[in-house]
Amino acid sequence: MTEHDPAEIDSDSRAFWDGVARGRLVVSHCRACGHQLFPPIASCANCGSRELEPLEVSGDGEIYSWARVHLPLSDAFVDDVPYTVVVVDVFGGGRLFGRLLDDEQVTPVAGAAVRYETYWVGGRALPGFRLALASSAGTETAI
Ligand SMILES: [Zn+2]
Repeated sequence: MTEHDPAEIDSDSRAFWDGVARGRLVVSHCRACGHQLFPPIASCANCGSRELEPLEVSGDGEIYSWARVHLPLSDAFVDDVPYTVVVVDVFGGGRLFGRLLDDEQVTPVAGAAVRYETYWVGGRALPGFRLALASSAGTETAI
């Protein structure tokens, strides 16, 4: 059985993976309409232009959804389960999957603020996120 490599690199995704290896988040930016998008694809999802360029962004964003993983998709993550994968809407545009790097006891909530952070597994750099504020863990703060 061939195991799927979650970090396959092609010409569209090379700038993203190079950014991850440097600890940065790189999305695609459309020169024609200014749209910012992720995942990296050959043409703009907004206007269809192929005039895309890499754009390094802060990686700040908000959790759209999340899931706790108990059965790893790859042998590389066997020792990590259970762990949490979050789907993050990056500010400025783009929706990205990544590991939530906070304590496993933390239960994330949709809308919680997160910051991008690269993590490493088996010599491979992968995208991750950390909750930006303690109040993002599901507690409410009076104003
Ligand atoms: Zn465009």
